[in-house]
Amino acid sequence: MTDSSLFLDFLAGNQPYECTPWSTPTRNVFGWQKPCYLLVNEGYAPSFKALMEDTDWENYGTGKNPKCDNCMAHCGYEGSAVDDVFAHPIKAMLVSLRGPRTEGPFAPDPEVKYARTGRTPLTVLSDSSSLRKSS
Ligand code: SF4
Repeated sequence: MTDSSLFLDFLAGNQPYECTPWSTPTRNVFGWQKPCYLLVNEGYAPSFKALMEDTDWENYGTGKNPKCDNCMAHCGYEGSAVDDVFAHPIKAMLVSLRGPRTEGPFAPDPEVKYARTGRTPLTVLSDSSSLRKSS
């Protein structure tokens, strides 16, 4: 497995990408899995066309669905990063040469569009404001 430089930069907290699970669709013995292989109770589509056209993609991604809380998985965000590579090749090249930035402020968190009922263990772990030195 290889990762794009900007996906690694996203994992380091430097890119504010939104999930694009349609960029890495999953096909298994049950059919085309909605919306990605990590969520197992969202159903299956009988064809690629049905997956693309009938999945409510706007309901998935960090901040849009509590099941996606704190997700930074490649199946949702590598495609977002590759899209950014084509949009900003110089930025991608510089990150590839220098590596992800590990100091300074994080990219902003996505807006949470649902009511949170409490702090889950993953939410506590993701409260990373003290993990990085400010520059
Ligand atoms: S945020 Fe993660 S779990 Fe949710 S759809 Fe994207 S890849 Fe799947």
